[in-house]
Amino acid sequence: MIVPVILITEAKATGTKCVSAQCERCGAPFEYQITRTAVAHAPSALSFHAQKRARVKLERMLNTEHELVPCPSCQWVNEEAIRQFRKTRHRNMTPLTVLFALVGLVAATFFYFGAINIFDHPPSLREPFFLGVIFATLLICGGRLLWQARLRARIDPNNHAPGVPPTVPAGTPPAVLRSSEGVPVASIPSTSPDVENSAWAIFRAGTLQLPSLCCKCLDPAATQFRWPIIGELRVDVPLCACCARSNMTVLWLNIISPAPVCFLIAWGIAQFVPILDTTAIYTVTGLAAFIFYVAYLGSVIPRIVPCRLQVSDPQRALWKISFKNQDYTALVIHALAEAERTPDVEL
Ligand SMILES: [Zn+2]
Ligand SMILES: [Zn+2]
Repeated sequence: MIVPVILITEAKATGTKCVSAQCERCGAPFEYQITRTAVAHAPSALSFHAQKRARVKLERMLNTEHELVPCPSCQWVNEEAIRQFRKTRHRNMTPLTVLFALVGLVAATFFYFGAINIFDHPPSLREPFFLGVIFATLLICGGRLLWQARLRARIDPNNHAPGVPPTVPAGTPPAVLRSSEGVPVASIPSTSPDVENSAWAIFRAGTLQLPSLCCKCLDPAATQFRWPIIGELRVDVPLCACCARSNMTVLWLNIISPAPVCFLIAWGIAQFVPILDTTAIYTVTGLAAFIFYVAYLGSVIPRIVPCRLQVSDPQRALWKISFKNQDYTALVIHALAEAERTPDVEL
């Protein structure tokens, strides 16, 4: 029997656009940069189609979406921007709600037309089953929609205005002011860095400039730890020569030493499987040793590397990085905040 397999390609497109805004309260003009990443899927044979769809989606996102940038004069966040921003949040709840609705619809149809005969139920049970499924579907889907609306309504930076500065989402870009000649003259951060309580430095892909100090001991950096590529992002982490050497030694020890141990455990287990001949024992041993080894590396290597790197908000192209040395994370947060205060002449 031939089983057709369709491979799916994922295409991503990331772009930045300068948005001109005007405060709806005091009328002050300002600008900010919006960055978005669009994702599209298509069968592998139509990968060009996925790329095209990702680019079209990105264009639409850049033209219609907003960031919650407070007015640099009065700190007000435009209500229209909040409305649009809310629509783009908690979207990941929608597919499961639609799936529940479809399953409920199919189940209700099944009970109404088919189940009575199949399960030999008396016809009097038809309507209670049908109505029960419809009621449960409405309850689950309605509850999820209400919960989604509630989560979105919580995004309300003007909640305590006026007087209290708005709390905007992490990664909100700074407001940029231009001179009458059109030159950027000031960049006003939308968020103030919470160095004390933040274990993570949040940054936009391409904007991370790490201080050239060793991320483990804060001595001057002499080399870099090349982070394996995660998605499309690669970060070169500064290290001094001493920390780089000890890091490499521990890394290689953990790569090499578990291999014979994994093999011995797998070989021992294979001996206890009664129906195996010699060839099968070798095969099972090799396979089990490989699985143990990969599982070990997967659990240990993230603890050896000097920092953790994760996607923070994929749609807004935000990443977050945390170093084992929390003082270095604080330095990175400060460096990112300082960069936000520098007007970008390329804007
Ligand atoms: Zn204003
Ligand atoms: Zn060091």
